[in-house]
Amino acid sequence: MSTAAARPAPSLTDQVQFLPGVGPKRAAALERLGIRTCGDLLYHLPHRHERNEARTIIHLDYDTTATIVGRITAVRSEGRWRGGRTTATLIDNTGRCSLVWFSAPWMADKIRRGDIVRASGKVTEFQRLPQLVNPKIVVLGADAPPVDESAPARFEAVYPASQEMPAPVIAKLIHTHLDRLLSLVHDPLPPVHLKRHGLIGLAAALRGMHRPRSDGESIQARKRLAYDELLLLQLAVGRRRATRAGDSSRPLPSSPEIDARIRRRFPFSLTPGQDRAIRAITADLARRRPMHRLLQGDVGCGKTVVALYAALVAVANRTQAAIMAPTELLAEQHMRSITRYLDGSRVRFAQLTGGLRKADRAAILRALADGEIDLVVGTHALIQADVTFKQLGLVIIDEQHRFGVRQRAVLRQKGLSPHYLLMTATPIPRTLAMTVFGDLDVTTIQGMPPGRSPIQTRVVTPVGREAAWLFVKQRLAADEQVYVVYPVIDESDTLQIRAASREFQRLAREVFPDRAVGLLHGRLATDERDRVMKDFLARRIDVLVATTVIEVGIDVPNATVMVIEHAERYGLSQLHQLRGRIGRGEAPGTCLLMTDSRAAADNERLRILESTQDGFKIAEEDLRLRGPGELIGARQHGLPALHVADLIGDAELLRLAQQDADDLLRDDPGLTKPVHAALRTALHERHRDALHLLGTG
Ligand code: ADP
Ligand code: MG
Repeated sequence: MSTAAARPAPSLTDQVQFLPGVGPKRAAALERLGIRTCGDLLYHLPHRHERNEARTIIHLDYDTTATIVGRITAVRSEGRWRGGRTTATLIDNTGRCSLVWFSAPWMADKIRRGDIVRASGKVTEFQRLPQLVNPKIVVLGADAPPVDESAPARFEAVYPASQEMPAPVIAKLIHTHLDRLLSLVHDPLPPVHLKRHGLIGLAAALRGMHRPRSDGESIQARKRLAYDELLLLQLAVGRRRATRAGDSSRPLPSSPEIDARIRRRFPFSLTPGQDRAIRAITADLARRRPMHRLLQGDVGCGKTVVALYAALVAVANRTQAAIMAPTELLAEQHMRSITRYLDGSRVRFAQLTGGLRKADRAAILRALADGEIDLVVGTHALIQADVTFKQLGLVIIDEQHRFGVRQRAVLRQKGLSPHYLLMTATPIPRTLAMTVFGDLDVTTIQGMPPGRSPIQTRVVTPVGREAAWLFVKQRLAADEQVYVVYPVIDESDTLQIRAASREFQRLAREVFPDRAVGLLHGRLATDERDRVMKDFLARRIDVLVATTVIEVGIDVPNATVMVIEHAERYGLSQLHQLRGRIGRGEAPGTCLLMTDSRAAADNERLRILESTQDGFKIAEEDLRLRGPGELIGARQHGLPALHVADLIGDAELLRLAQQDADDLLRDDPGLTKPVHAALRTALHERHRDALHLLGTG
């Protein structure tokens, strides 16, 4: 390009504002879309391609809507105000077409003679020529090749956009600069590597995403970019694993005496699944290498019991154990069950949550520092700066996805390198476990403790509501209890809480006037929440209207029915967790998924829950439908986001990337060899966020 010569050699790390046509205002708008550098712009990939039925002018049919692509050879404006008219002439290599806009004087500024444009509109006849009336226009650029070489673009890239930066504006910006940006791309992967994997070059791939000429081309393009993302992901995971390999923790061995002493704490014998998990954990704890184990299993399978077992092994070794829960409510629940199990034991335990009085908190902090508390339960408050431990041996994190690298870094800064046990009731599909959590060992508890009843699940559409409430009344008449779950996505959202409260009043007054109806949500004070739960447990409440705070660990065996309102608003895994609250007694449970959605797709999605109770299958389905981010919070885990790659669809590519990353890191752990310089630079340019993973050792 002629303008490029006059400027210093640009690079993909330059600010977008460097580009002609991007002023400060646009730069700010782009930044809000996450586009800061030229490289960001080049990697702002279309989320889909619309096949546009571009035709050659000779093949246009009158009175149809059509798209044509060609060069503007003339633009004219007549009349300045309403009623004014702008006309233009467009040619392709088969003929000439006239374009006309009424009352759109700005069109004269939008297109210029010489522009290559795509025009879509209704085809009429005007002076024996085809004419498009008020067509939509996308300017493809002024520097596009001459008409007789330009095949009509058959795919139109549709970009993620914002109000201030609409998709066509972005498309134009990208297409205007595409050639220049592509000329700056250095492929970090050597040709032999590409050839071996059947991958196309990076510049070709980026061109193929922005301006594909065929389906095949965009498929090849996507594959290459997906591979790059997966390779980076695997490099990041591999680096992290290497970082941890250098840590050492205090070994916490067990013994038959310790084992027997701990088992006596539980009023039941452990399930085979729990025993298997405990074997893996005790083996880990006995080593100097810090344990990093993910314990997963369906809600109610008995993870908490296993976690407590592990904590007691740590305590038996005269170290401290900390159990961290994502919410105060969950922490309180852990505290309740721990109090029950440890009744009469010498283990000193306490709860450290945000709601403590200052003096109480100070006392607990002192005791922790002096080693006078063996086991502490709390939220993230546990790892705040002012908390010191005498000898922290084990950290147990419930619902691991809310605990990120940052928190671990805080502990590391305190010079602590405890063993880690992470727990989740959202089963992580195998593909994910081996990638995102490739640096974790995974144990899955299969099977449930005895005494669980099966749960029947039904999707209820609006026509079925009456019958559903009738069914609920029958269960109530049989002396069973009922949860009605109302969607409150964020327990701090006052509006949502208010909606839940209104629903509660309506149910109490109109649907169950002769029943005791209670309300439970996250905004209630702790003692109030406790009171409501106790009332429900003691059957003083028949119908408990609750938000998702009940998702976690409350056991009411006599509650057999769960009605979930607006079920379409929840993820499948979350619904699965919710329904895990019922079927805990002898009577079989029923879960009614009420949906207002008439979208067949929504209801199909929900029907998966009718057909399976397998948390893994459900999580896989969630992953397929909603992507990994929502499921496990990959970002919080400190890993690069995937924009192109799909962990299920690209399983094959993932295996390839994993193998390649292993080979690379074995050969060059810090990617510091000159042959890897291009790869390292590319990673830095493309994945600033993940940089620290590669940089820190
Ligand atoms: P999770 O944490 O996996 O949701 P919990 O550990 O909270 O599961 O256990 C759920 C319920 O099952 C608790 O009431 C617990 O007392 C009970 N439980 C756990 N393990 C067993 C077992 N081996 N036998 C009988 N009941 C058990
Ligand atoms: Mg639990």
